[in-house]
Amino acid sequence: MSRILHRSIDADLPVAIGGRGIELFDSDGKAYIDASGGAAVSCLGHSHPGVLAALHAQLDKLTYAHTGFFTSEIAERLADRLIADSPDGIDFVYLVSGGSEAMEAALKMARQYFVERGEGRRRHIIARRQSYHGNTLGALAAGGNERRRGQFRPLLIETHHIAPCYAYRGRLAAESEFEYGERVAGELEAKILELGPDQVIAFVAETIVGATAGAVPPVEGYFKKIREICDRYGVLLILDEVMCGMGRTGFLHAFEHEGIVPDIVAIAKGLGGGYQPIGAVLFGRHVYDAFATGSGLFQHGHTYMGHPMAAAAALAVQDVIREHQLLDNVVQMGELLNRQLRERFHNHQHVGDIRGRGLFRGIEIVADRGDKSPLDPSRKVHAAVKREAMARGLMVYPMGGTIDGAQGDHILLAPPFIVNAGQIHTIVERLGDALDAALDYSVDGSR
Ligand code: PLP
Repeated sequence: MSRILHRSIDADLPVAIGGRGIELFDSDGKAYIDASGGAAVSCLGHSHPGVLAALHAQLDKLTYAHTGFFTSEIAERLADRLIADSPDGIDFVYLVSGGSEAMEAALKMARQYFVERGEGRRRHIIARRQSYHGNTLGALAAGGNERRRGQFRPLLIETHHIAPCYAYRGRLAAESEFEYGERVAGELEAKILELGPDQVIAFVAETIVGATAGAVPPVEGYFKKIREICDRYGVLLILDEVMCGMGRTGFLHAFEHEGIVPDIVAIAKGLGGGYQPIGAVLFGRHVYDAFATGSGLFQHGHTYMGHPMAAAAALAVQDVIREHQLLDNVVQMGELLNRQLRERFHNHQHVGDIRGRGLFRGIEIVADRGDKSPLDPSRKVHAAVKREAMARGLMVYPMGGTIDGAQGDHILLAPPFIVNAGQIHTIVERLGDALDAALDYSVDGSR
């Protein structure tokens, strides 16, 4: 019996013993194509020689120095690199160990920014329903993932949620996509006015919604409108690109596609590609200056922030992506994946929507593609898809509760940036078989 409290107590998990390229291997010798990068993490696949070499070199040099006593060359180089590669308006870095820590730091940074400026009355965070910002209490409170937050509600700080930008479900027949975006962005202004414009700290959103709703991109113009509203009321815009950032959409930052720059952005998964736990908050000079000219201190910190091994992994991952121009491959293979998914599923009665950008794609599964009605949640089709895919040597990231935390199912795909055309073909083939098997399974319950 395992002494680990696994994510699910009755899960019968295979034992991972190795990985190479886009595959992971278990202790029975079975290979799995990692078409989701775990949870959109392994952007370079597994055992990349360049990253392993950088980690070995760092191990021989320096493994830990507390950031209250020292900075390190490797952390400074990573920060320089992240800022050099980011658009104007992103000027400083705060290094942490994962996505929840990054979001937690982002929220506290935003609050302290206003305290430093003498606007301590600002206390409200506005976010969106059907979003996820992490499992620590502050990040969980900001998130709108009802399944994850429901039982912890008594412990969560007060936050406010507006509608997501989810055109497949929310757009009215009489609206263009642009009009829909303007309408749902308008909910932010209404909420700011309701709470009091001088009381709001920040608006928080995933640029592309990840695991909660399945790679839902915003419609054109939505984030421009959001940026305008934030500027009008002096509210900070915090984007959560923990999952969709660091190249996954073909841009280093997903917000570059939107033509806006946030005040603060959280990154994690693809930053270190799973080679070490690392996350970061990137932010503008105005935020830095508020601290620099104020108390001179961000009242925060973690023991492992700026860890040299984590910084070495992240810098190596980013070096490989740049050297091999892998963002071009993300765009090309992303288009191929999109095309092949559409070819495979265009007549499928249970595939309602195929969406996403780059190598970040979502498939929404429905009972009837005509009226978009969801499958009965008690069937847990998402769980059956995962099981059937694993049986076929394929890792994908399916989830239920797509629509409102209870109803709906989707599958998230996030293959490594090194994936090639033949592998895309195999992924789509195995996924098609897994989905069909899962639907049979969940309909007749016979397996
Ligand atoms: N934000 C988003 C958008 C995420 O997808 C996740 C994790 O899935 C997090 C935050 C939390 O990151 P972590 O699991 O590294 O704490």
